[in-house]
Amino acid sequence: MPAYYSQPAAANYSSPPPHAQKQRGYRICDQCGQVEAPAARFRLCGGCMVTQYCSQECQKVHWPHHKAICQHTTSQIASIKQHAASGYTNDENIAKNLRKFCSAHTSLLCWVGFQALQLKRVPSNIRQHALIIDLAPHSHPEGHRRFSVVSARIVKRNYIGDALVLADIQRRDDRCRQNGGIGALVVLVQCAGISQVMPIEVDPPSKISWDTREDWASVLHHFVESGRTDFQPISTTPRGIYYG
Ligand SMILES: [Zn+2]
Ligand SMILES: [Zn+2]
Repeated sequence: MPAYYSQPAAANYSSPPPHAQKQRGYRICDQCGQVEAPAARFRLCGGCMVTQYCSQECQKVHWPHHKAICQHTTSQIASIKQHAASGYTNDENIAKNLRKFCSAHTSLLCWVGFQALQLKRVPSNIRQHALIIDLAPHSHPEGHRRFSVVSARIVKRNYIGDALVLADIQRRDDRCRQNGGIGALVVLVQCAGISQVMPIEVDPPSKISWDTREDWASVLHHFVESGRTDFQPISTTPRGIYYG
């Protein structure tokens, strides 16, 4: 199964910026870990069109570390396109719509992964486990709404057999911990033999005010089925309960 990166994100990175209400998730610079602000949009790597940087300097510094995974991602996408061009499948559209899905539901996927792995209670789960969300395609005019959730399950992280992707997740783990976080949470979103790997860098649980919820699977179903992209985690803080 081709597995490649989509939309690296951060879960509650440090403190949510004031504009968080309108954001779909925090994008972080893959070199320095800085969170994107609306005033200074990040640039995408022109090769893989996945990895993002706060500046040209960060992109330059990062290139020697990024080169291998960049070429890998590019070749995975090319092989899906080639497969689709052969006329047997519409894999290319599925890959494109999966990227739209991950982008539209970034905050939801970060929160669901955090709850499913019970990271508030057992932060070390982040090292061993990953969440897989299996989707089934159906027709809808909007790309990000062309999927239904079939199942969501926890697997060992080494379910990802791809050594390059695993090495890159390890690199994000290390960097996230150096910056005070607990590591990179891995969420895989799969459909029709295509697997998108979403690494999510997670703050220490003490900094995350999200309530622990057992009903994450039904929340996931609800937001995906209804096409709502305004998900915000419920948080109980000393000042009260915040519904996003
Ligand atoms: Zn940077
Ligand atoms: Zn790249």
